[in-house]
Amino acid sequence: MIDKSKIKVCCICTESIKPQYLGKDQIYDNDKSLDWYWYDGNNAQPVADGRCCDSCNSTVVIPQRITDLSMRLNMGVSK
Ligand SMILES: [Zn+2]
Repeated sequence: MIDKSKIKVCCICTESIKPQYLGKDQIYDNDKSLDWYWYDGNNAQPVADGRCCDSCNSTVVIPQRITDLSMRLNMGVSK
């Protein structure tokens, strides 16, 4: 079950971040298995300080990281 109280909002587009299903935890007793979800989305650095959704990660954050990296390489500056 998805715990709606744990759902976070993307700090870039302000849409709610879709939880990602991780798998079942079989350790639980009484034959019960617990579904695990990842609620935190992606790290939005260096675009924003917070968490972002998958679509912002692939369309905004990753291209920005590549731009930053290639700029650093071009300038010969290591950080
Ligand atoms: Zn987003």
